Amino acid sequence: EQKSTINFGAGPAKLPQSVLLQAQKELLSYNSLGISVLEMSHRSSDFSKILNKTESLMRELLNIPDNYKVMFLQGGGSGQFSAVPLNLIGLKEDRCADYLVTGTWSAKAAKEAEKYGKVNIVHPKLNSYTSECTILCRLSSRNSRPSSWTLNPSASYVYYCCNETVHGVEYNFIPETNGVVLVSDMSSNFLSRPVDVSKFGLIFAGAQKNVGCAGVTVVIVREDLLGHALKECPIVLDYKVQAESNSLYNTPPCFSIYIMCLVLEWIKNNGGSIAMENLNNQKSSLIYDIINNSDGFYVCPVDQPCRSRMNIPFRLKTEEGDEALEKQFLDGAAKRGMISLKGHRSVGGIRASLYNAVTLEDTEALATYMKEFKKQHM
Ligand code: PMP
Repeated sequence: EQKSTINFGAGPAKLPQSVLLQAQKELLSYNSLGISVLEMSHRSSDFSKILNKTESLMRELLNIPDNYKVMFLQGGGSGQFSAVPLNLIGLKEDRCADYLVTGTWSAKAAKEAEKYGKVNIVHPKLNSYTSECTILCRLSSRNSRPSSWTLNPSASYVYYCCNETVHGVEYNFIPETNGVVLVSDMSSNFLSRPVDVSKFGLIFAGAQKNVGCAGVTVVIVREDLLGHALKECPIVLDYKVQAESNSLYNTPPCFSIYIMCLVLEWIKNNGGSIAMENLNNQKSSLIYDIINNSDGFYVCPVDQPCRSRMNIPFRLKTEEGDEALEKQFLDGAAKRGMISLKGHRSVGGIRASLYNAVTLEDTEALATYMKEFKKQHM
């Protein structure tokens, strides 16, 4: 049966209905084996098939070149904030890395990296939400690239967060690093559009937004970057160890990998990353158009060129928001079955997350509500 609740949560987030139904059908007995994936040995041939299928779907959907390893690890996106410097900051003797900071998640990653080497904050996070976003925007709209961001040519890598989930800031270009290894956190826009993997040294993404449930983090890494981990790198975070053991150095998050496999199949059956991009453009335009044409009733503090297609933060009436009215908005939405629209606690306001599994119809329901609410309260 169709669910009547529409989940606009930022993650863990909505999963495709067909994926949930398939998981339900197979929960007690996977593939007529008489046991659940939850009970299966990670070294069994049945689980190997799931793992291999997940990897090959991922390779197909993102067109991942052969000289990249794909790993399915634990520890979340935050685990990668540590794993990235532990594995890569020693690529060059200076142990420096450049971090482009555009919001909460890149700021956290930079702070963690400072434990392991010298971190150059190329793109400082300013105190205010708005000014921080404006800076990124100004740079991108002048078509600037990190070459004007005073990158350090002897950095081991350049790091950025492709989509800032809290602030709703998304890159619509790949930073040019002039040969320095590029690392990207794509947790909240992974597989929402095609990406040229060959431009990156490493991409990582937690699954719980666009490609599954919590528990598994995908790491795609170029082979020549393996084997440079610092001595103190915990073995479960060592990319070389995990890559050589096909993500089976220790017990992987089996069930989360299985769910990811189902989601990747769903993406493939629905037209792959290009179809996801078209749909995501359509959905986000629907909401941004309402914001833009609301005569200031809805205010999105992010400047146009770096507005996220995945997470749309907005306030009511002013940039600081009319909190009482925002509460009314959220209550009214909940009455219509639309949940998890509250902005992140650090920024307040409203946030609509429109990941792959959120349908056009779901988005239309929100759009209709936004128009009605404005009419009643303008
Ligand atoms: N990066 C981004 C862009 C995120 O949105 C999040 C979580 N919302 C994280 C990293 C951290 O992920 P986790 O909670 O899995 O550690």
